[in-house]
Amino acid sequence: MLELWNKGRELRALRAVDAASALLVVGIGEAGMAVLQRLLATVFECGAGGTSAAVELSRAGDALIGLPLDTPQPEAAARAWLAEAHRQRALERAQETGVDPDQAQEELLKHHAWALHQLDPLARRIRLVHASTGRTAAEVSRAARLEGHLLARWSRGATRPDAGQRRALARALGLAPGWLGVQRDTVPDTVLYQSDGSCPCGVGAARFAAGTLDERPLNAAWGKLGLFCTGCGQPYLVEPDGRFHPVPGIGTGRYAHQFGAIADGVQPDGWLGAELSRPWPLAHWYSPDGLNRRGVLQIPEIYRSPPAAG
Ligand SMILES: [Zn+2]
Repeated sequence: MLELWNKGRELRALRAVDAASALLVVGIGEAGMAVLQRLLATVFECGAGGTSAAVELSRAGDALIGLPLDTPQPEAAARAWLAEAHRQRALERAQETGVDPDQAQEELLKHHAWALHQLDPLARRIRLVHASTGRTAAEVSRAARLEGHLLARWSRGATRPDAGQRRALARALGLAPGWLGVQRDTVPDTVLYQSDGSCPCGVGAARFAAGTLDERPLNAAWGKLGLFCTGCGQPYLVEPDGRFHPVPGIGTGRYAHQFGAIADGVQPDGWLGAELSRPWPLAHWYSPDGLNRRGVLQIPEIYRSPPAAG
């Protein structure tokens, strides 16, 4: 029923789960809901559904019906909601394709997709930041003077580091130590997925241009008009209270792309795009200087500074 995964697929789904749970935790308006629909469609496509953007977006829209607007949820509840929406879609897909529901349920629980829903924010943060360093687990472990198997265990959420290990890992990854503090283990990094009206890409002359996100939006009321940063190309949808939510591309608009939710990012200089298997949103990882030779991204400013309380 579920396709075998490659690394890119897993990273895409992981990033989508990351961003979607963060949105549920902050409490979103209609702009955030439209972003959530895309992220959920990505989870479906990566781990259950078909490859049609229109179908998965529509199913994601169905799953969002009844989700209250502007109601922040605890992190565990947000993840449980995502997992249940994903389970429902997988079972529905099994029905559509004539797979026995019991067998489908069994396969689903064994699938990689399922393990992603169990990862707490600490494990997801370690994975995200590690991915952006472009270094192998062995290289990071050596730099942090940690035993080789530990990083993998923490990334799977099997165990958590002790205080000394947290400091060593933060140093090796280039993170301000507070990001790996115990108090953030269950707190998602919501600051990545909303901003206050400026783009964090750091391109000095960047402005915002309005443009169409989807040429044929499924739900016009959820805002087909996005703003695009002229510096990094990141599209945003804006809440009435002024919060900007970065939007993963889907569809056929200039900055968007077909499902794979995800593949073939469109970007001014073509190297980062909206690809969800890369660290995302691109505005945080964009560098006006481009990538270094090994394709390594700079750790975003927010992670190099101590986290804000809360
Ligand atoms: Zn930007």
